[in-house]
Amino acid sequence: MTVPTPARVVRETDPEVEAALLEQIDRWLRKDVEPHVMKMEHDDIYPHDMVAQMKAFGLFGAVIDPQYGGMGLSASTYARIVTRISEVWMSLTGIFNSHLMMATLVEKYGNDEQKQRLLPRMVTGELRGGLGLTEPDAGTDLSALKLKAERQGDHYVVNGTKTWISNGIEGSAFAVLARTSASADNPRRGLSMFIMEKGPGFRHSKKLEKLGYKGIDSAELVFENYRVPAANRLSDEGHGFYLAAGGLELGRINVAARGVGIANAALKESVKYSQMRKTFGKPICEHQAIQLKLGEMATRCEAARLLVEQAARAYDRGQRCDMEAGMAKYFASESAVENALESMRIHGGYGYSTEFPVERLLRDAPLMCIGEGTNEMQRIIIARQLIERNRI
Ligand SMILES: Cc1cc2nc3c(=O)[nH]c(=O)nc-3n(C[C@H](O)[C@H](O)[C@H](O)COP(=O)(O)OP(=O)(O)OC[C@H]3O[C@@H](n4cnc5c(N)ncnc54)[C@H](O)[C@@H]3O)c2cc1C
Repeated sequence: MTVPTPARVVRETDPEVEAALLEQIDRWLRKDVEPHVMKMEHDDIYPHDMVAQMKAFGLFGAVIDPQYGGMGLSASTYARIVTRISEVWMSLTGIFNSHLMMATLVEKYGNDEQKQRLLPRMVTGELRGGLGLTEPDAGTDLSALKLKAERQGDHYVVNGTKTWISNGIEGSAFAVLARTSASADNPRRGLSMFIMEKGPGFRHSKKLEKLGYKGIDSAELVFENYRVPAANRLSDEGHGFYLAAGGLELGRINVAARGVGIANAALKESVKYSQMRKTFGKPICEHQAIQLKLGEMATRCEAARLLVEQAARAYDRGQRCDMEAGMAKYFASESAVENALESMRIHGGYGYSTEFPVERLLRDAPLMCIGEGTNEMQRIIIARQLIERNRI
């Protein structure tokens, strides 16, 4: 079986375009997001107005090629946008990230008809996308997926459940990995990737309650004799696993960029608070124990940012970057967790209060260690690549 290698796409964003976009996003974050985060997050309110504003900025087409109406941004610019937004409210980035992962799969592996039909609607946000891999009994081990798609003429009949799907309620279409063959000698080869739009036989069920990552919807998707046209299959039957694995590189860069955002936010809050809070007659930032924490936190932020930049640059050059994206995702997400915890310690009792943003950072950060491939798997991927690139 030969899985198609997508054409090498080299991306670069004009620095002036990037600067203008980042400035616009910063202004929006200060004016329309920051004042509302605390309440919306605690009340788990879906940010409909912010979604409309992100649509207006073109974020739903951020990395989609201009020939389909998108901005065609490089992964490097995209990662910087994701970091900025995550410094204020990480949940917002989940809304357009899994949408763009689906768009990237269509752009990389779809045929011309699929690209023309789907991508312009995704750019405007008329079609809101997501990625449907995980099932109740299979997450890391995708070869154990059970969602069944049986060919019947020019359609497939789909039955089963997906879970933990971001945008599961607000989204209208998903890139779904389904089993088209039970008898394939290698279970991975029995999987195919489809674009499935909600309609008769395909609905979301319950909203899943979470520790953090509030405001945005994570849900189960249920398929009951849902008929998806064969024309919605991406690439050939049996290619799905390999498409999903390739599509995760951009997702990992995004998760890493979110980690940098949270790590930065934790540092910023700590630098501010440690100058305001006094103990034993001086601001706590003058105590060496606090300085050691701030020094470590700042170093983590910079190292994580540089790893994300490196991975994004490799992606933009069209190079294979699973090791680079894995390192960035692993280090940045662990940095987010460590910085959030240290920030809580620096804030003392107030760090545990819902009146300060630190407790949210500590609830949001661990998701980055799980999503787009757990950090256990990232280290395994890094090690495998290390051996492959250094064979003796
Ligand atoms: C808020 C949220 C949003 C999500 N959004 C999406 C989404 O949009 N789309 C989607 O498809 N999924 C989504 N997920 C699911 C997520 O991708 C999975 O939770 C993740 O891949 C891990 O799978 P699992 O939960 O089944 O854990 P498991 O695979 O059961 O793993 C359990 C533990 O075992 C470890 N482990 C497993 N296999 C190995 C191994 N071979 N070696 C060493 N350690 C191993 C894991 O690292 C982990 O620590 C989301 C999850 C959350 C919490």
